Amino acid sequence: MFFYYQLRTHHYKTELVPHITCPLCHTAGQLHFSIMQKYMWVLGPIAPSRKYAVAFCEHCNNYIPKVKWTDPMDSSYRALKQGLKTPGRLYRGLLVFPLAVVAVIGITLIFVKRTEHKQQDNKALIKEAIAHPKPGDIFQITHTDGTIADYTYFKIVRTQGDSVYVNPSNKHFTSPKDMKKWDEVPTEAAAFEPQQLAFSISATQKTDMFTYATQPVEYGMVWSLYRDGTLYKKY
Ligand SMILES: [Zn+2]
Repeated sequence: MFFYYQLRTHHYKTELVPHITCPLCHTAGQLHFSIMQKYMWVLGPIAPSRKYAVAFCEHCNNYIPKVKWTDPMDSSYRALKQGLKTPGRLYRGLLVFPLAVVAVIGITLIFVKRTEHKQQDNKALIKEAIAHPKPGDIFQITHTDGTIADYTYFKIVRTQGDSVYVNPSNKHFTSPKDMKKWDEVPTEAAAFEPQQLAFSISATQKTDMFTYATQPVEYGMVWSLYRDGTLYKKY
């Protein structure tokens, strides 16, 4: 999250101080004071700083730097500033800003809740798809032989009793950089091996992993289900 803010200036008043002599050109009667105040703007004004004055001489066309101010200038400035109250609107942002923050947090929470909800729905659907495998369903699988893992797919061919038969895919991804490509689930027959692997449905239900009858044991962990053109992810 980043904050965008501006520094703005509030102008109170500009007044001629006729009895003061300009310290630069030594002419009297041409000096003006402008009383100002800086404040921050973040969705509204906040954090007004101290008031200050800019002195300008219309005779020599100069701004008088603060170090050149004479004592009479100091006292006139104090007199002009007296009774000037920082307007309440310069603090209005203090009200607007928290409201905006609350709104942003609220929207984020709704979004997170929705995503969580969707993941819960997907998990339930995948659980169901593992319990009752449907020919044509494709699972996104991470396959591991205990040392190397790769990202691939299993396509359900048929079931018989507690056995489910799948065609493993000939597409394998090994780099986390390929995760986007992994999500582009292939449906064409050429993307799958003709051989059929058999797994126990009840064992797969327990772990969400297709366990090979090999030694050492290999696994295919289920990540998502691709059904009728839609990818349902668990995470
Ligand atoms: Zn002057």
